[in-house]
Amino acid sequence: MAGILYLVPTPIGNLGDISIRCRQTLEEADFIAAEDTRVSLKLLNHLGIKKSLVSYHEHNKAAMGRQIVERIAAGEVCALVSDAGSPAISDPGEDLVKQCAEAGITVCAIPGPCAAITALSISGQSTGRFCFEGFLSTAKKSRREHLTALAGERRTMIFYEAPHKLLSTLEDMAAVFGPDRQVSLCRELTKLHEEVVRTTLGQALERYTAQPPKGEFVLVVAGAPAQVRQAPSPEDAAARVRALMDQGLTRKDAIRQTAQELGLPKNVVYDAALDA
Ligand code: SAM
Repeated sequence: MAGILYLVPTPIGNLGDISIRCRQTLEEADFIAAEDTRVSLKLLNHLGIKKSLVSYHEHNKAAMGRQIVERIAAGEVCALVSDAGSPAISDPGEDLVKQCAEAGITVCAIPGPCAAITALSISGQSTGRFCFEGFLSTAKKSRREHLTALAGERRTMIFYEAPHKLLSTLEDMAAVFGPDRQVSLCRELTKLHEEVVRTTLGQALERYTAQPPKGEFVLVVAGAPAQVRQAPSPEDAAARVRALMDQGLTRKDAIRQTAQELGLPKNVVYDAALDA
C-alpha cells in the first residue's frame, strides 16, 4: 500500500509557531525531505526529534523527486519541510506535489505559517480579494512585463522580495502603478524586529534609499482604484493593443489583456485592433 506525502509548515521566525500536529507528523514520518538540511536540523534538534533526512532542493528536485515518489509508492510516509513557512508556496515543494499527484500518491497539507498570509492579515489593505504574485524576476525586462500585466489588477497583490532587490522592485512598481499607490512592507514577520511600514510606493522608495533594507520582506500592494470613466472607445482599445505589442506581447495576449483591462468583450477588442 502506498504511503503519503505530508506538507509540514515550519515557523517563519518564531519557533513557538510549530503546531502539535506538525510536530507529531515529523515524529511519525519514515523520513523528512528538507530544502536545507542544516536549517531543518536546527528545528528538529529544538524539537528533540531524530529522523532520517534527505535533501530536496531547487537543483536536485527532478531526480530526488523521483526517488521520494518511489519510496512513498513503496509504502513510506514522507514529511516535506521547506526552509520556512508552507512548503510548495514559492519553493520547490510545488514540483514534488505535482510528481506525487501524477503518481496517484495522497498529499496531505497541514495548515500553518505562511509569510504571504501573515503579511496580508496585518497589511491593513483590503483582504476580501487578493492575488499572490510570488517573486518577481531578477531580469528587469520580465519584471517590468510582469508588473505591466498587473497594471489594471483591482485585487490586493502580494509579492515576496529579498532585501537586495527591494529598491529596484519599488522603482519598477512606482513606475508602473504610480508613486501614490499604497503598499505595506512587512519585514521580519514573527521575529524580534517585526515591522510593518504602511506607506506609498514613492515614499517607500525614498525611505529605503536613505536606509538600506534588511531582512525578508513581503510587499502587499493595493489594487488599482476603480476608475470612473467613459466607456472605452474602439480607438482606446486599438491604442492599448498597439502599446502592449510594442512592449513585446503577442497580438493574442495584447488583445486578451486589453479586453481585461478595459472591461470589453474580446471580439470587440479584436475588431478594433485589426489594423493595430
Ligand atoms: N514557502 C514560504 C511561505 O510561503 O511562507 C516562503 C518561501 S520563499 C522561498 C521565502 C520568502 O518568503 C522570502 O524571500 C520573503 O519574501 C518571505 N518570507 C519568509 N519569511 C519571512 C518573514 N519572517 N518575514 C517576511 N517575509 C518572509
